[in-house]
Amino acid sequence: MSELMSTSSLSLPVSQTDEPSLIQSTCAYCGVGCGVDIGVADGKATSLIGSADHPANYGRLCVKGSNLLNTIDLTNRLLVPEIAGEQVSWSQATDYVAQQFNDIIKKHGKNAVAFYVSGQLLTEDYYLANKLMKGYIGSGNIDTNSRLCMSSAVSAYKRAFGEDVVPCTYQDLEQTDLLLLTGSNAAWTHPVLYQRIERAKKINPAMKVVVIDPRKTATCEIADSLIQLKPGTDAAFFNGLLNYLNDHDGLDTDYITKFTEGFQQTLKEAKSWSVDAVAEYCQVNSQELVVVYQLFCQSKKAVTFYSMGINQSSSGVDKCQSIINCHLASGKMAKVGCGPFSITGQPNAMGGREVGGLANQLAAHMDIDNPLHQEKVQRFWQSPTIATEQGTKAVEMFDKIATGEIKAVWIMATNPMVSLPDRAKIAAAMKQCQLVVVSDCVEENDTLAFADVKLPATPWLEKNGTVTNSERRISRQRNAAMPAGLAKHDWQIIRDVAQAMDFDGFDFEDVSDVFKEYSQLTSFENNGERLLDLSGLSQLTAQQYQQLAPIQWPVNNEFPQGCARVYADGKFNTDSSKAQFYPVTPQLPIQRTDAEYPFVLNSGRMRDQWHTMTRTGKASKLSAHTDKPYLYLHPSDANKLSVQDDDMLSITASTGQAITHVKVDNKQRAGECFMPIHWNKSFASHGNVSALYQGVVDPISGQAECKQGAVQLTKKSFKQYVSVHRLTSESEVNELKASADFWLKNTTAYGEAYQAAFDEPIVDVMFWCQQTSGLSGEWLTFQQDQQSYIVCLQAGKLCYLAYSSNAWPKIEPSWLEHVFSVSSLEFATVQSLLLGIASEEFNQGKQVCSCFAVGEKTINQAITQGCTSVEKLGEKLQCGTKCGSCKPELASLINQYKTAPIAVITDLAVG
Ligand code: SF4
Repeated sequence: MSELMSTSSLSLPVSQTDEPSLIQSTCAYCGVGCGVDIGVADGKATSLIGSADHPANYGRLCVKGSNLLNTIDLTNRLLVPEIAGEQVSWSQATDYVAQQFNDIIKKHGKNAVAFYVSGQLLTEDYYLANKLMKGYIGSGNIDTNSRLCMSSAVSAYKRAFGEDVVPCTYQDLEQTDLLLLTGSNAAWTHPVLYQRIERAKKINPAMKVVVIDPRKTATCEIADSLIQLKPGTDAAFFNGLLNYLNDHDGLDTDYITKFTEGFQQTLKEAKSWSVDAVAEYCQVNSQELVVVYQLFCQSKKAVTFYSMGINQSSSGVDKCQSIINCHLASGKMAKVGCGPFSITGQPNAMGGREVGGLANQLAAHMDIDNPLHQEKVQRFWQSPTIATEQGTKAVEMFDKIATGEIKAVWIMATNPMVSLPDRAKIAAAMKQCQLVVVSDCVEENDTLAFADVKLPATPWLEKNGTVTNSERRISRQRNAAMPAGLAKHDWQIIRDVAQAMDFDGFDFEDVSDVFKEYSQLTSFENNGERLLDLSGLSQLTAQQYQQLAPIQWPVNNEFPQGCARVYADGKFNTDSSKAQFYPVTPQLPIQRTDAEYPFVLNSGRMRDQWHTMTRTGKASKLSAHTDKPYLYLHPSDANKLSVQDDDMLSITASTGQAITHVKVDNKQRAGECFMPIHWNKSFASHGNVSALYQGVVDPISGQAECKQGAVQLTKKSFKQYVSVHRLTSESEVNELKASADFWLKNTTAYGEAYQAAFDEPIVDVMFWCQQTSGLSGEWLTFQQDQQSYIVCLQAGKLCYLAYSSNAWPKIEPSWLEHVFSVSSLEFATVQSLLLGIASEEFNQGKQVCSCFAVGEKTINQAITQGCTSVEKLGEKLQCGTKCGSCKPELASLINQYKTAPIAVITDLAVG
């Protein structure tokens, strides 16, 4: 049979029918690493719930995890290899890639090629990619999108502890007295951990939660206190805390003396940070600071939970270190309920760190610039060469592609056109790169537009291997479906290319063999030097690997069942075995506001979306919560710019421009704004926030400063706005995109919908609709003032709907869902459509609960009728009773809308 096949004939193939009817796997999204139970019936994945016995989530799932099965269809799947847009066989594709890489290396040297990989890869994929680049090509030029996520945390752990080891567990979050959540909107980014914290606080009301963030996020719903500090000033906050601990008997001098080095120099640097100095620098109230400092000082246990708000900074390593300094100094370290806890954003960022996925690491936590480690890894691999110096980190890698120093790049499972800062520069680099190879599961995205070679990789549900979550727990990601089309697992693609390049050492038949070799490397001549030791797993048979239960490393003779608590003996992995303090001088962001770019631009995730939306963007349930890349803006700034909700703004930075809708939001600080990271050219013509950031990085970690940009905001108007519902063909979509000056795609239950805007009004809207849609049927229109309402019916069923106006037409999504689902519309409904008036029953407002499709207006009504707790709302409307992701928003709405209790006057004073 030919290797080539028609994609149109493909359906989703699934595992053999003799496989179990329940497969335990791991969620595809964030670093919490929740276990999922996938029900398989009649050879298909039919149900998915949180695994009750997985220690990360104990049955919980957030809204993204709950909707995993709504993202697995074959739409936009890459199923056959392509070279220059032509479908080819796998052997043609692998031979071509191998030959091109070999030729370029021969002609220009090993550093003329690079891999840019991803926290979406499984550990086995990552391991082989790293082995190929560092042990066989001999270059350090492999880096990962995890560079953008937590490389500052890695560098700080490595500097302080001698090894990149996270010293906390999720249970510490529940067992602590004080939790500082800094640079993290955990309620949206790590919802299951947030739910665990929320529950722990209910059980132990004495537990305190402090949020340290420039925004008052959904996470603040469980906070006792918010330090709404100036963006980028976190290191001063923690230097101030260290100084306060010193001044208020908050040091653990015994711990400092026995287990650490460098305290005095560090304290000297922190001494200038009095409470008043911190308050002025961070622009916060000194009394509020004192309250938090006192809490930390007096609490026996404290955890600092930090994420990208700390890491994505031009001084991110020092910010992480300033947190670690406070924990070492107070002895709140390596004990129950204590420690500096970096939470990763991606499903397997941690696995990548373990196998050497970063350009400045070797493998198995060995150092790339250590000759002993180089020799050890090369001897273990029996490889022809070994990388002896750091390769280029993500931002620098694309700089070198732009200059032509790197001539071939293989991008795996990531979308750098959307996620790396300075999109225009990345586009220019990709455009002129001699060879761009992309392995991905999707056919089209912003990066694939530049691919010379497309290699179809398996996505979640078809992938099989291991991932490590934020608490060092390795879990199996088991496939519940066979690869669709000709897709291969990433480790297989890398193996095949390596073999085609004529390299030995890639003779793997099964994914368990890759894991076995990686585990053996972790223990190879380890002698207790490195905590990353999986010797206890290094002899697993394929069957034992298949059955592997979640386990925290190290796993060795000492800890055969894994190890939750590390560094409890105070022995670290540094040369002296002591943890290292490091003095921190707070630095402000490099991207500064000025007269030309007066607003600080923050960025981050929305509750129901993930990365560049290639998966979550497929699920209408997930698109309903936030259907646009809103720019969130303080009311005073909105006032100055004369904009209100849903008006449009042009956002200009020195690197590029975006255009988007406004959400007026008093949870921002004045002068600052926030935009989500997810939208890209597949979903919006002008919605990519990374275009607005300069490629400035932390000098140690190379992590980009993607939280503090500088932008100009100006009100943007178009002459005409058209809302088009249900486009079904690629040509319709292309027509619309080509003719509009601005467009935005929404995934709905009835198909794709578009918002389009025009600088020049369309003269005949009905004709434009007919032309762009190409549909035949019964076309009806109603025009009033500058508004047009257009429907197309086929045998009484609505197949197309468009509203045009000189302002954005407002239509209730639930009403549209209803009218598109009706097989034959009544005349009265058609009349309503032509008048654009939805029945009151569909007038629900913005969707808050995605699981049960409950809108804001319905919730507010229930609150005013007496549902003044999240539980009561759940009883009445079901909202918040499934995945729980909306609970912080429900609590916020209760605070906003509950009627103030009427004061009861019991003591009337008679004058
Ligand atoms: Fe997946 Fe949500 Fe769990 Fe993260 S918190 S792993 S997105 S279910």
